[in-house]
Amino acid sequence: MASDADLANLVDSELARPWWAAASPQLRHLYNKRRTLHRRRDARFSMWAAVVIYVLFLGLDAVLLPDVAGLTLFVRVGLGLLALATVEGMWRLRVDAERFDAVCAGIVVVCYLGWLGVAISSAQALSVSYYMIFGTIFVMVACLFFNFKPRTANTASILMVLAFFAAIFSLTTVSIPYVMAFGTFYVSCFALNAYVNMKLNIERYNVFLNALKAEIREDEVLQRSRELFRLSNTDPLTGLENRRSIDEKLRHLWNDWKTHGAPFSAILIDIDFFKSYNDYYGHQEGDRCLLRVGETLAGTIKPYGASLGRYGGEEFIVLARVANTDELDALAELIRLAVVTLALPHQHRRDGEDVVTASVGASLTRPQNGAKLERLINEADRALYAAKASGRNCVRLFDPGDPQGNDDSENIAALLRIAVAQDLVSLAYQPIQNVATGRMDAAEALMRLRMLDGTSVPPSVFIPIAERTGAILELGRWAVRTVCREILCDDRIPVVSVNVSAVQLRAPGFSASIAAILGETNVEGNRLAFEITEGLELEINSGVLRCIAELKQLGIRIWLDDFGTGFAGLSWLRLIDFDTVKIDRSFLADCATPQGAAMMQDIIALVRNRSKQILVEGVEHPWQLALMREYRIDQIQGYLIGRPTSPEKIRPPTLRRPEGRTALRSA
Ligand code: C2E
Ligand code: MG
Ligand code: MG
Repeated sequence: MASDADLANLVDSELARPWWAAASPQLRHLYNKRRTLHRRRDARFSMWAAVVIYVLFLGLDAVLLPDVAGLTLFVRVGLGLLALATVEGMWRLRVDAERFDAVCAGIVVVCYLGWLGVAISSAQALSVSYYMIFGTIFVMVACLFFNFKPRTANTASILMVLAFFAAIFSLTTVSIPYVMAFGTFYVSCFALNAYVNMKLNIERYNVFLNALKAEIREDEVLQRSRELFRLSNTDPLTGLENRRSIDEKLRHLWNDWKTHGAPFSAILIDIDFFKSYNDYYGHQEGDRCLLRVGETLAGTIKPYGASLGRYGGEEFIVLARVANTDELDALAELIRLAVVTLALPHQHRRDGEDVVTASVGASLTRPQNGAKLERLINEADRALYAAKASGRNCVRLFDPGDPQGNDDSENIAALLRIAVAQDLVSLAYQPIQNVATGRMDAAEALMRLRMLDGTSVPPSVFIPIAERTGAILELGRWAVRTVCREILCDDRIPVVSVNVSAVQLRAPGFSASIAAILGETNVEGNRLAFEITEGLELEINSGVLRCIAELKQLGIRIWLDDFGTGFAGLSWLRLIDFDTVKIDRSFLADCATPQGAAMMQDIIALVRNRSKQILVEGVEHPWQLALMREYRIDQIQGYLIGRPTSPEKIRPPTLRRPEGRTALRSA
């Protein structure tokens, strides 16, 4: 089978072909094939029309040849009916066009002979000699009335011209001039009609060639636009649908859900530690990893009739019709397992696993007021965030009951944008006590947020939202500036620790902005400590390490917060030179049992081995304080020592106003 381009070239050369050169057999074949149906239909229609005219000529027969009127009635009607019966029979039997035309041409000749035979048997010699002229109408019918090919039309016409000559020579009454005039007329009529027939056939063929060319062009344009469409909807690396295509599907499913109530889910799949995979194995391997994961996901979701796309760097998305959260959970788990089962080695991750895994977050449509399409993806995104925060390689479904997941979260996100300007944030300070001296060594600054109506929002709610929306960057700078202004302006509290999110450490220019705040408030860097919480979504990359090194150069101490709650603590201890490690309060609470106490001692030994200062959080009871003394812990923090309180209360006024630099600043 020739390609479209080959066929187009063939058509072009066929259109430019001189009349004497042979036609392309391939195009001829195609032409005949395409015309078959039309030819049969045309011949059938023409035969009906021709028979009607043939029978109507009975009137002229009666006037010119009254002596044989009865016979011509019999012949015309008889032959006419026979012709129609034959044509209808062939039509029903689906006789091919070639034979159909040949039989029709034969019928024309037979009808001519029938008329001729009856006419010459008439005694009206003069009338007959005039009437003969009408024989040329049969030639016209064969050449022009039907769409016969030249060969068929010419054969029929020649037979009729010959029959005419045979007839006039059998007539004794005709003269030589008559024979010459009528004979020449017959022959020229035939020649003219044959010529017109040939021209018509050539024209028909050319029309076909031009139409074919247009078709090929249209096909090409169609194919090209299809290819363009495919390209614009395909991810070039994995060959999966890209974000644009998935967004389109999403809209379609959403409309379907809105109109017919067919629920569906969005499942986001993010490859864990993909950045370190890329750094360690190289970008080519990284691409191959994405490709393999994409293939596996495609195979996994196939039986579910779901759509799969690449949604961003290392993130995939599945849109699937599922009836309820149980089905969704099962599918999401299947997806997670499929990635683990691939067993692609990943030796450079920091959580003890050694293969590529994925975190999966999913959300299901549910009836709610003012539901928006974007919200579904937003919810899946939050679920994914939760999966990451829970240690990765796990599935989390969006929970509408989660305070971070409901509408309040959007309100809080909006509130956070105006929080600093509207004075809605403040800092509370919690004392940190030196166990040996009993003095307040430091205080931790804890952020507080209140809504416009005065209700307070717990940090466990607003901090993750601020991290997700990026508001934490401004809030973080505000916190450091405020600590410098309201606490570190004098020397009553030596050090204040400020909690710092992973997002801040990753943000370009973070250390420079802190340096600027220190300069502007005239505070020494060594009066500040930054607490970094273990277990948050912090992949320690070169950027983060550089940022920490720059902060340390400013004199800022770096503390590890909530040690023991995340999975990455040990490797963090190895990678970052923390000044102090804060052991999470859950370990102290567990110290009520012998196992818990043993665990606490193990942790203390481990941290001490790395010669870090140890701070234990959550001291609430005197026995815990005694235990801390027994374990020779450096610092403690907890409700027993002091609850988070206002800046005025944590920094009681002294009678003597501080002097020098500090006095100037507070002035
Ligand atoms: P964290 O840094 O571990 O802060 C200690 C949390 O434990 C505080 O909760 C504090 O009120 C509470 N706490 C202190 N002593 C005790 C005790 O004896 N018993 C009990 N049950 N709890 C105690 P808070 O203020 O709700 O803060 C929660 C978390 O929010 C903080 O945990 C920190 O991770 C985050 N956070 C607070 N302020 C900021 C901030 O300015 N920036 C960032 N990035 N995160 C912050
Ligand atoms: Mg803290
Ligand atoms: Mg803590």
